[in-house]
Amino acid sequence: MRDNARPVPGAPAIDIRGLRKSFGAVEVLKGIDLTVRAGEVVCVVGPSGSGKSTLLRSVNMLEPPTGGDILIEGVDILDPDVDIDRIRTRIGMVFQQFNLFPHMTVLRNLTVAQERVLGRRRAEAERVARDMLARVGLSEKAAEHPGHLSGGQQQRVAIARALCMNPDMMLFDEPTSALDPELVGEVLEVMQALASSGMTMMVVTHEMGFAREVGDRLIFMDDGVIVEEGDPTEVLANPRHGRTQAFLSKVL
Ligand code: ADP
Ligand code: MG
Repeated sequence: MRDNARPVPGAPAIDIRGLRKSFGAVEVLKGIDLTVRAGEVVCVVGPSGSGKSTLLRSVNMLEPPTGGDILIEGVDILDPDVDIDRIRTRIGMVFQQFNLFPHMTVLRNLTVAQERVLGRRRAEAERVARDMLARVGLSEKAAEHPGHLSGGQQQRVAIARALCMNPDMMLFDEPTSALDPELVGEVLEVMQALASSGMTMMVVTHEMGFAREVGDRLIFMDDGVIVEEGDPTEVLANPRHGRTQAFLSKVL
């Protein structure tokens, strides 16, 4: 297994320096500096349109930056000689929309990338898949199709699918925003357990309770910049900037 190759806790996992991103003439990231250390859980909050998704998508090069640097475990992913597909396998991503394959069983959803991207044999991929399904509490759903599951269960499957790739870090973009309120808790519980296991996580969320209890650090973004960051409990209780105060007064 790769576990021996895992980064030392506290080593920089994601190192973002002066990151800029424009779409045409519109600059949506205006110089972001952020280091996420191995084992750290960083929650990112901010108003719609502030650049949170673009920031996350930049980390695995779904959005190529227009300026600055991004290092993943010390490797500059903008270096044209870097094998970006290999780096991407180290980074799990979970979106608001679960993006499961509707025509495949849950088990097959969890094995297909293991086989095609990692070259695992079917039997090993299924063993890993069943381990991860157990981890998110869905062992009994292996043979179901995603359409037969609740939104919360589908999102837990999506998390299990990402974990099957044995990532070093996980990026979550509003993983509970599409869920009915009564289904949010089960997904947050899975994420909390993952955080407790030492996973490095960047989480864009409006769930301030999660940010306070699970986050090691809270980042507040507005208009393409990090306006404020710090200990989540501290930032939520005593926001220093007017823009943070205005945002929190609407969501808390
Ligand atoms: P957030 O996730 O904080 O709501 P986004 O990162 O999705 O913000 O978007 C930031 C800004 O970038 C928004 O103004 C959005 O319209 C714009 N944007 C995002 N993606 C694209 C794109 N592919 N093309 C053009 N503009 C985009
Ligand atoms: Mg977004």
